Amino acid sequence: MTRIAVLGSTNMDLVAYVARAPEPGETVTGREFRTVPGGKGANQAVAAARAGGDVTMIGAVGDDAYGAQLRAGLEHAGLDTDLLHTAEGPSGIAHIVVDDTGANSIVVVPGANGTVTALGPGEMAAIAGADLLLLQLELPLSAVIEGARVAHAQGVRTILAPSPVQPLPAELLDCVDLLIPNEHEAAALTGFTDPRAAARHLLSQVPAVIVTLGAKGCLYAARGGEPVIFPAPEVTAVDTTGAGDTFVGTLAVALGERRPVPESLAWASSAAALCVQRPGASTSMPYRTEIDAA
Ligand code: ATP
Repeated sequence: MTRIAVLGSTNMDLVAYVARAPEPGETVTGREFRTVPGGKGANQAVAAARAGGDVTMIGAVGDDAYGAQLRAGLEHAGLDTDLLHTAEGPSGIAHIVVDDTGANSIVVVPGANGTVTALGPGEMAAIAGADLLLLQLELPLSAVIEGARVAHAQGVRTILAPSPVQPLPAELLDCVDLLIPNEHEAAALTGFTDPRAAARHLLSQVPAVIVTLGAKGCLYAARGGEPVIFPAPEVTAVDTTGAGDTFVGTLAVALGERRPVPESLAWASSAAALCVQRPGASTSMPYRTEIDAA
């Protein structure tokens, strides 16, 4: 089994469905409310575990009721949560308002995630012993950089999903093997709206890049080769939430199994296409048998 360490966020998503989002100072009555386990780190970890990875989640939840629920959910998904610490104070939350057009506004309060500023010996050992490290940008940058450095020093392949997008310091990029932005993030990082141009630019900073393109699939580019588009399966999408995290988590498993890049991309694309055909984020992520069947 591919050993995957995920150093990332765990949030409870608090989702209110309303006809129209309120203006400042206004109160509106919502139609429905759901609490859904989320956070980019936890979502990628669940996707990787469902795809057959042996996954260790490194991060923190709070000592509130959400923290206990989040931990229980990740344990149920088969993750190793020994390095998911319980910090004093609230868990991370994402406060989400979804209106009838499907548009959403989101406030993320990092809570316990913000306490993960540095790594201890246990975290470093888990990263050093993994086949692959998955990183995003929902934890303090100091911890993300430290994790990438440990992995790089030990020859552990590191994948970074640069979300929420922000300027990336060279000391981080120097330790990243594969960068996976979506097309908006690629444009924000480079100033190029054309994904090929963005990917070429990013190749001066990292050895390989995948720009995800939603229903259009993804663009793969590695140093020394021409960027190649891999189309996504044509499906009817009902909810694309979590598609990116499914893609990254599943791809990590395939790459960790040393499968060729085209086969790994096809497998991850199949998994993400299954995800978009079902409502929800972590709940809609497919299991390995389903991905193989697709
Ligand atoms: P999200 O934030 O919604 O999780 P993202 O913006 O990070 O996603 P996208 O580029 O939208 O990332 O999607 C990631 C991958 O999911 C795509 O590369 C593709 O393989 C798959 N995907 C997304 N939308 C669709 C769709 N409508 N049909 C088929 N595959 C899709």
